[in-house]
Amino acid sequence: MPKIVIFALDFFGNMAGIYIHIPFCASRCSYCDFFSTLKLGEMGADYVDALLAEARLRRNELLTERVTNLYVGGGTPSQLPLPLISRLVMGLREIIDLSHVEEFTIEANPDDVTGEWCDCVKSLGVNRVSMGVQSFEDKILRLVGRRHTAGQVADAVNHLRMSGIDNISIDLIYGLPGQTVESWTATVRQAIALEPWHISAYGLTYEEGTRLWQQRERGEVVEVPEEQCLEMYRILVELLRQAGFEHYEISNFAMPGCYSRHNSSYWNDTPYLGLGAAAHSYDGRVRSSNPCDLHGYINRIMAGLPANEKEELTLYQRYDERVMLGLRTSLGVSAESLRDDFGDIVFHHFLREAKRHIEAGNLKQVDGFRYVLTANGIMLSDSVIRDLMWDE
Ligand code: SF4
Repeated sequence: MPKIVIFALDFFGNMAGIYIHIPFCASRCSYCDFFSTLKLGEMGADYVDALLAEARLRRNELLTERVTNLYVGGGTPSQLPLPLISRLVMGLREIIDLSHVEEFTIEANPDDVTGEWCDCVKSLGVNRVSMGVQSFEDKILRLVGRRHTAGQVADAVNHLRMSGIDNISIDLIYGLPGQTVESWTATVRQAIALEPWHISAYGLTYEEGTRLWQQRERGEVVEVPEEQCLEMYRILVELLRQAGFEHYEISNFAMPGCYSRHNSSYWNDTPYLGLGAAAHSYDGRVRSSNPCDLHGYINRIMAGLPANEKEELTLYQRYDERVMLGLRTSLGVSAESLRDDFGDIVFHHFLREAKRHIEAGNLKQVDGFRYVLTANGIMLSDSVIRDLMWDE
């Protein structure tokens, strides 16, 4: 059980995060459409040099904020050889003040999590590990091309705890081909039994162009019906609630005080600097993204040029983001802040649409001015949120 309260969603002040994208994987999972490559061996060292060069180029973007969370995601960051991950983190410390970092997360594949790996990342300051577990059924893991087995997850958790990393997050996917309501229930129970502090669970989507999408087109895999996926989600919510998890975002559950700072920064307007190919950044007004092109990214950065393309959001786009991201969380959206930040026209649009969904039982008002999805609304979240958005 967690012993410390790491943070509360409201208390962010002048804080910022850094996200570092490691776009390398040992193999490709059949459902994945993230940007990642299998070329770690030939490009890993150059890529780490480029990440540090980009941090030098862009460090001024964080001058007024304290960096309180650092997140290394992917791809598969645990594939990065230990000398390279050490060079990356120690190099970054020389460029950016990381002395205020309270949450330092690295994503890992369970079969990479050895005792040596845990000791190394712990010595670098990592205090949270997020593992892509997805399922505890070996045949499903094999079917979708995951490298690990269910048994390796328990070993990984043991290694992490032995090295002193207790803040463990587990990612799961429901609606995987071959999964049944019963087998999903067993997966959730096994995840709970490992006593992680945080669980994220996402419904499988068949992204066009992925191997899984092609398998479905050829009739080689059968999609789990939507009603069954909803039932899996209901079971997830109920079992985690019984186990003491707080449901703080549609897909995220945490023991009290253990909400992910990194995830939350996307939902509560906290600025973050994204380093690496395909990484996104946000400074409170402007979003920018680096190219999904490893060579292009490295070449530009090593020539001393920023690689990120900027997109200044319109007032209506910022409103849409606030509503879309806020309503996914248990804090919901504050109507007062919508009026203050976006004006009366947008505010009245929100109230009009919100009234309909309150009457339909999808939305409720809490503390007088906050609007939060009900249990029913969570099941219909896509359509409720779409109605409340401005959508230019
Ligand atoms: S490990 Fe993650 S990023 Fe890599 S292919 Fe699998 S799902 Fe995609």
